[in-house]
Amino acid sequence: MTRLTESVTLETLRRFDRPGPRYTSYPTAVEFHDGVGESEYQAMLGEADRSGPDTPLSLYIHIPFCEHKCHFCACHVVATQHLEVAARYLEYLEREITMIADLLPHRRMLAQMHWGGGTPTYFSPSQIERLYRHILGHFTLQDGAEIAIEVDPRVTSREHLNTLGRLGFNRLSLGVQDFSPTVQEAIGRGQTFEETKELVLHAREIGFVEGINFDLIYGLPRQSLEPFNASLDRVLELRPDRLAVYSFAFVPWIKSNQRRLRPEDFPKPALKLELYLTALDRFFEAGYEPIGMDHFSLPDDELAVAAREGRLERNFMGYTVKPVSTMIGCGVSSIGDLVRGYFQNCKKLSTYYEALDEARLPIERGCILDDDDQVRRYVIMNLMCNFGVDKEAVSRRFAIDFDTYFHSSILRLAEMEEAGFVRNETRAVKVTGTGKLFVRNAAMAFDRYLEEKTSERPVFSSTV
Ligand code: SF4
Repeated sequence: MTRLTESVTLETLRRFDRPGPRYTSYPTAVEFHDGVGESEYQAMLGEADRSGPDTPLSLYIHIPFCEHKCHFCACHVVATQHLEVAARYLEYLEREITMIADLLPHRRMLAQMHWGGGTPTYFSPSQIERLYRHILGHFTLQDGAEIAIEVDPRVTSREHLNTLGRLGFNRLSLGVQDFSPTVQEAIGRGQTFEETKELVLHAREIGFVEGINFDLIYGLPRQSLEPFNASLDRVLELRPDRLAVYSFAFVPWIKSNQRRLRPEDFPKPALKLELYLTALDRFFEAGYEPIGMDHFSLPDDELAVAAREGRLERNFMGYTVKPVSTMIGCGVSSIGDLVRGYFQNCKKLSTYYEALDEARLPIERGCILDDDDQVRRYVIMNLMCNFGVDKEAVSRRFAIDFDTYFHSSILRLAEMEEAGFVRNETRAVKVTGTGKLFVRNAAMAFDRYLEEKTSERPVFSSTV
């Protein structure tokens, strides 16, 4: 059988494997600064409230605790086995949610809610229920709302799952990475296939019939082809509705826990590419369809349907079918997206608590988008979601002439055009065929901030 990805060679990888953002936002978090704080946030919440009382919101809740910190982790995590920390955090989260809801008196409908971490099931089932009811005391879930939570099979009990199912959660996201015990040991995790399988089977039994997502990672220490293939066999045996396969982001200058990984254990570039292509081929063979960058889903999953129809959206929670423009972030380190501005909460628990004790919203930094940022964000998000951008639509929407405005970006796309990865047509820019594996590179051509950042010092991980 011909590999769908066989046109990707090591030479291609070397040419296009450059440090680059994942574009969950534009400008990326690297551009956030402390000149943006609570007063700007309050003003934009007010604006969001006035701008569309009938337009639903998206809500992200961050629960930062994990019992141990995995060596590879790049999330904002507080590692502690003192389970009592959860009770205090829950109280403060509730305060923050109430304060935000007070600033949004007209706009209370949620189309999407996502609890991430850390480990959201660090909360006990009764704490989860309490928080959920608190949120519903202030916001109303739209019919068909997407209610997602990240679950770690190592700490998520049947009681947790039963509670989540009863409350109405309908999406589960599981970090799997790689089931190989050698890799699990190298990354300091220790999650078995059996406990993952048990969680998935129980979830399906109690009604999670769609939207089960697995996150895998390639490029981890001690990964090799045969065990990786065996791990993929097990993943496909459980047939999650959605799969994401990420390139490991090795950023020890930002995440000190990654210094525990041994550089000599990392797969060499040729093997790393082989791991990636193997995953892609196995997903295609098993009937999954590509969704934006790094994501795949079964053909009848709503993400695949939206991708085929060019309606995919992207935000800090990942790909979604919900066209939600305003996302509120609650909890330590969470990020909110209020159309013209991004706002990030304090990353330290003590600072987060201190702000709320003083009845202040705990915003630490952010970024206000100027007109240029808004045009570029639109273009970049279209590329990342739908592998193309309609030049006429952009020109109309932002009252510009696309080709003139993006003259230098189009020049930067030349290398991808030559490789056959991008077509710059009269009416559209399209990412084609194998070029979809390098869609980040196409987006990077439209990123005004990138050039100066990458020449200063390493900021982003590699694109592949
Ligand atoms: S990878 Fe997941 S479980 Fe491990 S430390 Fe990070 S958030 Fe916690």
